[in-house]
Amino acid sequence: MDPLARGKTLGILGGGQLGRLIAEAAKELGYRTAALDSSRSSPALQVVDIPIVGAVDDELAALRLAEASDLLTLEWELIPVKVLETAAKARTLFPAPSVLAVIRDRLTQRNFLARHGFPQTPYGEATTAAGWKYPVILKRRTHGYDGKGQCRLLSEADRPNAAEVLKAPCVWEKLVDFKTEISVILARGRDGKTAVYPVAENTHRGGILHATRAPAPLPRDVEAAAVALAIKIADALGHVGVMAVEMFLLHDESLLVNEIAPRVHNSGHYTLGGCAVSQFEQHVRAVCGLRLGDPGLLEGQAAMVNLLGDLWEKGEPKWSVLDAIPGAKLHLYGKSDPRPGRKMGHYTIVGAAANTEFARADERLEALRG
Ligand code: AMP
Repeated sequence: MDPLARGKTLGILGGGQLGRLIAEAAKELGYRTAALDSSRSSPALQVVDIPIVGAVDDELAALRLAEASDLLTLEWELIPVKVLETAAKARTLFPAPSVLAVIRDRLTQRNFLARHGFPQTPYGEATTAAGWKYPVILKRRTHGYDGKGQCRLLSEADRPNAAEVLKAPCVWEKLVDFKTEISVILARGRDGKTAVYPVAENTHRGGILHATRAPAPLPRDVEAAAVALAIKIADALGHVGVMAVEMFLLHDESLLVNEIAPRVHNSGHYTLGGCAVSQFEQHVRAVCGLRLGDPGLLEGQAAMVNLLGDLWEKGEPKWSVLDAIPGAKLHLYGKSDPRPGRKMGHYTIVGAAANTEFARADERLEALRG
């Protein structure tokens, strides 16, 4: 299959900030862009050449996107597989629907990891309490993300707290006592070649990514093990495009896979400005059949801090705070309604200040709040 020729149209299923950043990278590479989202004012539909308004779980809407495009990709893994299959019959779609069929349900994702012997925390289907030892975390099998649709139970006494989450099918996972959370972002091309970004360290607040820094301060062998694990997962899935593997680093330096995202990922936002080729450009390169670019850091280190809607509580944040940080750059996603917990934007810090800024993220957010 030939690479997608410049001037052809890359269509994106989903219109959030990830789609917007993919579209901007695609345009820089000389492609036209289309995206599908239910809202005309969604982040991606604001910037693409061909905005298509319709629900991402609607087959006819997906077909309209396919007709307007020469090649398809996605920015969201929760699109129903049937819709993806319909779209993929009309135009080539990367990643393939079969990859999403494994990933979009936490149980099939965990079963896939188990089948291949990839390390993970003990888990099961949360239909009965059999085999479930406290402390556990319950997670909705689908549509739970950013800590939503999850509930931690430290003992049987917490059981009543799980009633809401258990209204939909869930998995249980043994709660992991980890030292750090890391993620490996990689791109896998149509030819199976991979390009891997420096391993990132992540902190979360309330289940939502808070800050990332790269490279994570890891012993070389741990870093190599994390990279090797992520590549094996991408190969086993037959993935094409960018993929993120979130992992827990335990106190004994062993690794457990937490979650796979078959798409560009929030913990890879530092690559935009921080690396020679961003995860967004790399994704476009991978799906369009171009040669993968250089994933190396430009200035040795980079960090990213998420900006959630809570920050707008007292009005527009004081952006001048960021102007005073060397190497800092603001990215806003064009969302007009800053609800608490909603990802409105992020800032990156590239270069020498990245590590200290990663540690000072809370303090900076306080100052931004005014
Ligand atoms: P997830 O949506 O699965 O990525 O979970 C969001 C966050 O919750 C993770 O980044 C961790 O901080 C935490 N978390 C998820 N699963 C576990 C687990 N099994 N043990 C401990 N913490 C977890």
